[in-house]
Amino acid sequence: MRLTKQFKQAIEILERIETYGHQAYFVGGCVRDLLLNREIGDIDIATSARPDVIQDIFSKVIPVGVEHGTVIVRHKHQSYEITTFRVDDDYTDKRHPDSVQFVESIEQDLKRRDFTVNAMAMDKSGKMIDPFNGEEDLRKGIIRTVGKGYDRFNEDPLRIMRAVRFSSQLGFSIDQHTLQAMESVLSELNSIAVERIQQETSKFFAGSYIETGMYYFKMINLAKHLPVLADNPCILERLPNPIKPLQSFGAVMAMFHFIDPAITIDTWIRGWKCSNKIKFEAESLDEALYHYKHDGLNRWLVYRLHSDSYNDFTVLANMLFDDDLSIKRVKEIARSLPIHSKQDLAINGEDVCKLFPDRQPGPWIGNILKRLEMKVVTGDLRNNEKVLKEWTKWNPHVTD
Ligand code: ATP
Ligand code: MG
Repeated sequence: MRLTKQFKQAIEILERIETYGHQAYFVGGCVRDLLLNREIGDIDIATSARPDVIQDIFSKVIPVGVEHGTVIVRHKHQSYEITTFRVDDDYTDKRHPDSVQFVESIEQDLKRRDFTVNAMAMDKSGKMIDPFNGEEDLRKGIIRTVGKGYDRFNEDPLRIMRAVRFSSQLGFSIDQHTLQAMESVLSELNSIAVERIQQETSKFFAGSYIETGMYYFKMINLAKHLPVLADNPCILERLPNPIKPLQSFGAVMAMFHFIDPAITIDTWIRGWKCSNKIKFEAESLDEALYHYKHDGLNRWLVYRLHSDSYNDFTVLANMLFDDDLSIKRVKEIARSLPIHSKQDLAINGEDVCKLFPDRQPGPWIGNILKRLEMKVVTGDLRNNEKVLKEWTKWNPHVTD
């Protein structure tokens, strides 16, 4: 196995902890992704050392969840989540374990983890600790719970969402027993905070193997237990086929709204308790799709779209209109734009005001700037101070 630079740097942390007489391992998603040759997100570390010991050993420590045994250590400009070996005592509220209990061995810690492929640890020399045969399941491409599925999903029903999310990200099938257990515990999803469900659903729709994930999503009728979808079960049948990965949840919300315009974006956003950022993404993609449908791709559309949304816009346009738009074309248009925001205009509100000294400042200034912005973006006017002032003086009708 070839360790990436990312891991080599993180080994220094394991060594440091070991110098103080404690055990430390890489654990969870980073081990899984290393074995799969996937890009690694965060490097998580599990240790026998208590949080206060870690705080003593390292100089830059952020105590994010000491009561759960977790701290973040900064090392060479990277962050590492370091969690003390623990078991979760009880899950009576189905959201957070009632209390955690620190334990002595990595094996005990691995037992509390959700799926076999997420329950492997690796030491600094690359030796695997794999009591649940996660490596074999990785090879076979299977999502399987650690322990009895029914108990594990009951303990924390969010794991149902996590199972379909990993299936969508990794293209894995879900073990038959695990799937049955998911189905029998489905209604417990109602006890989980919507924000946590949203996080998993967002990763689900961004998965490279969304088709595989969607197969299970539909098979167990997950929609019946999710916000807004529960009241509108037909939407799922009207999803684009094939469906492609969408990077932002705003794009997912825009897609659902497009499929059934009677359900407003606001309804989706409120139902899924989305942030303002997601709301903004959804609204701007919705607007872009509307313009694309009527006028095709043009400079004004691309100008109004945030560059982070270019990819999702292209994917949505192709899925919903059966088009063959390339992101290259969107980027070409973006590069050709004379300005990228109103601030780039050669004149500002003050300049406009001075052109009409007899008028009181008011909304008319903004209206003029908006017209100028559009004319410059579409190429009708050159972004030059003299040109813009001349045009404004000779077009008094837009001042109202
Ligand atoms: P990603 O690449 O998306 O971060 P990940 O596997 O690292 O994937 P996380 O949500 O970051 O997923 O969780 C880190 C690890 O913690 C998991 O690999 C798993 O071992 C454990 N874990 C996380 N959530 C749960 C849960 N609800 N129940 C049991 N174990 C969990
Ligand atoms: Mg992670």
